[in-house]
Amino acid sequence: MIIMTNAREGAAEAMSRMAASHFVNRIVLTTKFRFETNERDPAGGGHTALWNMFKPVASLTVEELRRVVLGELLRSQRLGLVDAAIAFGSWLRAEGRVPDGIVFTNDDVRLACAPHVRESIDDDFTRVAESYWEMHTSDIGRESRVPEFLVPLADVPKGRSASAPVAKSHPEHVVPLAFIRDQCLALLEQRYPHGNPESRREAVAEMAALVRRWLVIVQVSDDEWQRLDEGPLQVKQSMPVGWDPDTGCLFARLHHTDIRFAMNAGVEEAWRCACNHASVPTPSAA
Ligand SMILES: [Zn+2]
Repeated sequence: MIIMTNAREGAAEAMSRMAASHFVNRIVLTTKFRFETNERDPAGGGHTALWNMFKPVASLTVEELRRVVLGELLRSQRLGLVDAAIAFGSWLRAEGRVPDGIVFTNDDVRLACAPHVRESIDDDFTRVAESYWEMHTSDIGRESRVPEFLVPLADVPKGRSASAPVAKSHPEHVVPLAFIRDQCLALLEQRYPHGNPESRREAVAEMAALVRRWLVIVQVSDDEWQRLDEGPLQVKQSMPVGWDPDTGCLFARLHHTDIRFAMNAGVEEAWRCACNHASVPTPSAA
């Protein structure tokens, strides 16, 4: 009888420890996400979807996060990552925003910051890969548009279909963002099922290379966009059935939908069709 009670208490304790650790991790991720992009984007407020994905508690509004984390701690007080995360945690406590049963100290926050401080990064593809790692190891949402939010358009290789009007066309990710995310999560599930912190750097580097390789945009016409989205091949969020991530052409969805295109001048070979599928001459307009 006594043993059973203890076991139950032990399980409850472990549950609340885990809840606290997820909570603290989200405090750090929320702060880190803004901290790293603040310099590049001094006037920006941050994408709502990203704030929502990382925020520690559902009741926090994006307006509150922008005001406190971005406006007050990072821009006004100019705190570093660790101090800002600790101050954000203190604010949550002071405002009574920490859910019942969750207890954490400033040292817990400091500890959770450690891997991020050590790996201070200046590469957007790595940031995308890190958020996939967090999706794998913590309880954050699986937002598919993360690459769109974190990688500036200027850093994405671009092309244009033969029939896309220059003024009005639709930017199509040739490898769908949901597919990129799912492939990265599958890779983590397969190779790093336990999400050991020691594997983090290696896994993130591997995924960052995938994202860098697959993040490509081709401008298509409305009609072509509809064919990709609603056509019989079911390639809206996926690559064609049987496509091989190692050897398949990046542009397989466009080939399958019979969209003829060319990459812009200056785009490197790695991001051009390598399967000799019918193409069109390089357009002069970027
Ligand atoms: Zn091709």
